[in-house]
Amino acid sequence: MNNIKISKRDLLAMAEEARKNSYSPYSGISVGAALLAKSGRVYLGTNVENVAYSPSLCAERCAFGTAVTSGERGFSAIAVVGGKRGEPREKLFSPCGVCRQVMGEMCDGDFEIILSEDNSFTLSELLPIGFDYGKTKNEDV
Ligand SMILES: [Zn+2]
Repeated sequence: MNNIKISKRDLLAMAEEARKNSYSPYSGISVGAALLAKSGRVYLGTNVENVAYSPSLCAERCAFGTAVTSGERGFSAIAVVGGKRGEPREKLFSPCGVCRQVMGEMCDGDFEIILSEDNSFTLSELLPIGFDYGKTKNEDV
């Protein structure tokens, strides 16, 4: 994860803490995310569901929204964990397509997506050909 000194284990633990605050009365699935900015700061997110479904927010996008609101533009990694609310996670929880596209907007291809201590992927692996019409990357905005 670049030169920032934070372990995958610590980032996953922070995602687990965020997961505890999930608002997920409809799916019963709680998700937590811990986003590591290049500044070294970590931003947390959890899923926030809505009865109308479409306004629901994934944990990953929640973390990105908070980070961008705080002025961050460069990101190194994100840990994502999820599972049935109130239960330990049983399997890997991979970001949905919408969140991958958001990562494509905000991150370089080597951005690391950590799903467990033994399973991490680069953004290029999870989103090899994202939607992009040739605009300027976020760091120039
Ligand atoms: Zn998502």
